[in-house]
Amino acid sequence: MVIRLKKLLSVLLGVLLILLGSVFLLHAVCTESRGDTAHRTPVSAAVRQIDPTRPMVALTFDDGPYTPVTGRILDALQLVNGRATFFVVGSRIDGREEILRRIAESGCELGNHTYDHVTLRGMGESEIRKQLEKADEKIFSVTGQKTTVLRPPGGMYDSTLSAACNKPIALWTIDTQDWKHQNKDTSVQRALQDIKDGDIILMHDLFFPTADAAEVLIQELNERGFQLVTITELLTYRPETEAIHTE
Ligand SMILES: [Zn+2]
Repeated sequence: MVIRLKKLLSVLLGVLLILLGSVFLLHAVCTESRGDTAHRTPVSAAVRQIDPTRPMVALTFDDGPYTPVTGRILDALQLVNGRATFFVVGSRIDGREEILRRIAESGCELGNHTYDHVTLRGMGESEIRKQLEKADEKIFSVTGQKTTVLRPPGGMYDSTLSAACNKPIALWTIDTQDWKHQNKDTSVQRALQDIKDGDIILMHDLFFPTADAAEVLIQELNERGFQLVTITELLTYRPETEAIHTE
């Protein structure tokens, strides 16, 4: 009887050990695969290399943010791992903080387009500074990011602005005039008709036909082999561009 009990106990102990071993192994496998996934995800999401030998263009969107339009543009960019520059108006941020943060987190570039969308040309230096700083502070308070480039409303600037501004002033080489005609096909046609390496395309993320056009353009440019870059990236790889003034 005692011998039988001992046998039973040793069998039970064996089963317990096997169970414990299995649990340990299972845990190890799960932890490893979880660790593996966690390691892979950011790497694949972050893969973005610019090839200086391949053509590139900078898409730029002024006067936003405007959630339903800006969001569609960001979605389209995400599909091709492209970037653009958004020249934001400070006074249009309230109530649209979330989309502004999404621009910042997407790797797109945030540009200053003044606080009140005023014409800077002809303004005194202190007034200019007020407009630019107020917009920058607003953008920073929402995103924690500083703007890296400026586009003066209307593209109008003078020597006072150049002196007051401590960042590159980015104009454009292709004007889609999307705000005027608000027609998707016209915007697409104007953007593509003479497009070449180093171009900067001007659009406005305020109108639904602009979102329609951007979706087509982003796909088309990607298929044609153009890399979609920010203004700062364009300035880095195509410093000869005449549409960006750095002093
Ligand atoms: Zn504007």
